[in-house]
Amino acid sequence: MSFSSLGLSPELAAAASQQAWLLPTAIQCAAIPLILRGGDLRAAAQTGSGKTGAFALPLLQRWQAQGERALVLVPTRELAVQVADEFVRLAAGLARKPKVRAVYGGASVNAQMQDLRGVVDVLVATPGRLLDLIGKHAVRPATFGTLVLDEADRLLDLGFSAEIAAILGMLPAQRQSLLFSATFPPAVAQLAQGLLQEPECIDIVAGTTPPAIQQRAINVDTQRRTALLLQLLTEAADARALVFAASKQGCEQLARELAAGGVLAAPFHGELSQGRRNQVLDGFKAGRLCVLVATDLAGRGIDIDGLPLVVNYDLPRSPVDYTHRIGRTARAGLSGTAISLIGTGCEAHFRLIEKRLGMRVPREQIAGFEPVAVPLAVANAGGVKGARMSKKDKLRAAAAREQLDKN
Ligand code: AMP
Repeated sequence: MSFSSLGLSPELAAAASQQAWLLPTAIQCAAIPLILRGGDLRAAAQTGSGKTGAFALPLLQRWQAQGERALVLVPTRELAVQVADEFVRLAAGLARKPKVRAVYGGASVNAQMQDLRGVVDVLVATPGRLLDLIGKHAVRPATFGTLVLDEADRLLDLGFSAEIAAILGMLPAQRQSLLFSATFPPAVAQLAQGLLQEPECIDIVAGTTPPAIQQRAINVDTQRRTALLLQLLTEAADARALVFAASKQGCEQLARELAAGGVLAAPFHGELSQGRRNQVLDGFKAGRLCVLVATDLAGRGIDIDGLPLVVNYDLPRSPVDYTHRIGRTARAGLSGTAISLIGTGCEAHFRLIEKRLGMRVPREQIAGFEPVAVPLAVANAGGVKGARMSKKDKLRAAAAREQLDKN
């Protein structure tokens, strides 16, 4: 199957070749003809599947042919920039170029207002900032004939449902709506039902994680995680990794510890300025940094070609976060590894994630880093030096047990 056989114009098929995309991915094969026909679409698509191209190519063609303008809602600013960039790259060879803009929170609203003057053909936006701009009359929602909700599960996870409802109310009733989501929990299914009219449904990949990802899970003494991570990074042929930590402070601290251990690492979280985040990301892409230590929100938008390794230093809160985190590697047909470090007291939480995702990752232990097994009563009493659970671990373990009991 070639790009032109999907109904794309020679110009747009050539644009795909210029990205060195030899063949369309599965989601592109299924979605492009449907979107070109103008119908609504509900697609189960994971990060790394080529989903951006799956909607960007046909929407560019519909803009060229019918002047149809598109509004793409995304959960984070990184994703906004990334999606807008992909539209621009794919449109680079068109005789007439669309005006593509990304708007997102955390950057100057005045500069974005200036930038939106005139007609925007493709607007990629985070919901909160879009509503601000609509309120300031810088965006006219009625001009968009197509709506894309990208990473809908994440949009809802981040609490954007009220903003999405408000935005939907302002769009033309006659429109094409496309919803892409890695997972379909009830809230996303409900959103899809309210939004889409007689949609075609695509569910290319069974299961929830791309198969090219080798998943590993290592039981480790919580206090020894950094030492183990340093060892894993030293052993790896390509030491580049995206490491997830639970909090901004955790990111900062771990990046410092890794740097002290001789690894070029930098923190990447929402409290850094946009300029600093861009700088860190550029440094990583250019190979000046080996490790990014990120929070879920910041790590979400990262798209790095050929990233070989993702490490869950702290476990993700939810199965959805797990899927999104590990989906940063093994993108576009490449393979990759995702390692979860399961600290003392976190086993039940990881088991819950596995249960929800219907998978089981074999546990490993690495000599010198094994968790110290002690009866809880002894640990609680503080009877064994170095084996005591921290207060945070105890709370986490209790929360995980509670969750498991509920299931
Ligand atoms: P996405 O799932 O849209 O985030 O895309 C993940 C990565 O796959 C991006 O780096 C794209 O450039 C790349 N990609 C998209 N479509 C293809 C294709 N047909 N062949 C190879 N790579 C692709």
